[in-house]
Amino acid sequence: MRKKIIAANWKMNMTLGESEAFFETFLLELGEDRKVEVVVVPPFTALAKVGEILRDVQTVKLGAQNMHWEKSGAFTGEICAGMLRELFVHYVVLGHSERRTLFGESDEIVNKKTLAALANSLRPIVCIGETLAERDGNQVEAVLEKQIRGSLAGLTADQLEETVIAYEPVWAIGTGRTATPEQAQAAHAFIRKMLAQLWNADAAAKVRIQYGGSVKPSNTASLMSQPDIDGALVGGASLDPRGFAEIVQETRKLLA
Ligand code: PEP
Repeated sequence: MRKKIIAANWKMNMTLGESEAFFETFLLELGEDRKVEVVVVPPFTALAKVGEILRDVQTVKLGAQNMHWEKSGAFTGEICAGMLRELFVHYVVLGHSERRTLFGESDEIVNKKTLAALANSLRPIVCIGETLAERDGNQVEAVLEKQIRGSLAGLTADQLEETVIAYEPVWAIGTGRTATPEQAQAAHAFIRKMLAQLWNADAAAKVRIQYGGSVKPSNTASLMSQPDIDGALVGGASLDPRGFAEIVQETRKLLA
């Protein structure tokens, strides 16, 4: 049984004060139930502060939005896995479409980061997904296959099981346009089938595949009830502590 995982990608939002205010409300709304795994992914500047807030909290884990694959060195502006580990970070989002399109991250780069994260006991959340032109051109499966082969190259089956995949159709990110539950389920089932072919059926059955793209409280239940959707990566709606808590509650209700 795959434990559902709901993650808040704050992107380039939230000052220290805003992060503190978020958790004052969010932790109260969230309660103690641990049926669903919850991850908050603040900007680098708020990682230490949020880590401090979460030190004795069992219900929320800390994630980072990116990292470099090297251990240290002359990489101005970059952060390595060891620095994230020092802040008790558990997860790291890699290959988000904004990184791929705005900062030129290729599958090869995402792959180096993924291998480095796993080698340092960080769990990668690897993002893949097609653009609207690719969907309109019936390229969804070809694009997902290429991203899976490229971004996850060289992982052992054990490492694959540690990895979370986020299927995020680019046309649904921050646009208010959500994939229908059927569209998302079809993509997730295809991803799992590819993982079974490239690794093995057992590992593929254990990998959690999140959906991302304009998830909000009102569409959570229909998406999260799909058999191959194991959670959500939430951008815009995760900045509101009540709304994000509601997304978690909606997911918990499905498991009750
Ligand atoms: C994201 O950034 O991963 C995302 C899915 O954003 P949004 O929920 O705002 O579409």
